[in-house]
Amino acid sequence: MRFVRFSVGDRAPQYGWMFQDKIGALEGDLFGEYRRLEAGMPLERVRLYAPVIPSKIIAVGRNYAEHAKEQNVEVPDMPLIFLKPPSSIIGPGEKIILPPQSQRVEHEGELAVVIGKPGRWIPAEKALEHVFGYTCANDVTARDLQRRDGQWTRGKGFDTFCPLGPWIETELDPADALVACRVNGEMRQMASTREMVFTIPQLIAFISSVMTLQPGDLILTGTPAGISPLEDGDSVEVSVEGIGELRNPVAKE
Ligand code: ZN
Repeated sequence: MRFVRFSVGDRAPQYGWMFQDKIGALEGDLFGEYRRLEAGMPLERVRLYAPVIPSKIIAVGRNYAEHAKEQNVEVPDMPLIFLKPPSSIIGPGEKIILPPQSQRVEHEGELAVVIGKPGRWIPAEKALEHVFGYTCANDVTARDLQRRDGQWTRGKGFDTFCPLGPWIETELDPADALVACRVNGEMRQMASTREMVFTIPQLIAFISSVMTLQPGDLILTGTPAGISPLEDGDSVEVSVEGIGELRNPVAKE
């Protein structure tokens, strides 16, 4: 099933679900008890938002060997994790803003995991029971600042640096899905999640050995090779096979 956050006219954003290309509202708690109302609103009549508001975003560095190679770094022997602030989230169609502090902002198309059931010390064999669904993410990065600082909070943490959406898909085989990123329609990144160094169950086990995962928390599972700079006026599109496409325009601050 597909879940969205949407609004109609000037009403506040709310959770909903999708049937074919129609949207219906959801009553209750997305991660608990809820009731689905009739899906009668055409998708083109609603505004979509980032489909979830997490307590934290955990991202994984160098999780595709080809990407590590293009960055001239080794594949880590255990997952390399970092945090992005929830304030970096934007929804489908919202602008990625190039900050004046950086001369090189790059796209990173990624599969994002949405946690559904809380947990600490989750064993890999049970990890997928804690997953609510999946969405597309763009781990936008100020590459020059990431390199200069050594740690990644600034380079990864600007407002608008975490486009998410367009919806959460609950039915997906995360073991073999194509992750792609296009800029102005031109393919820049494409790889299957089969090529990940650490699988999603391994990532969940590792991360939850450090911090409690809460419903709505996001794991950005790493980017394939092919990262490239974004310019004012570009349109960048992350797609994950079986989910859909997340498109965002790029603009100067
Ligand atoms: Zn990334």
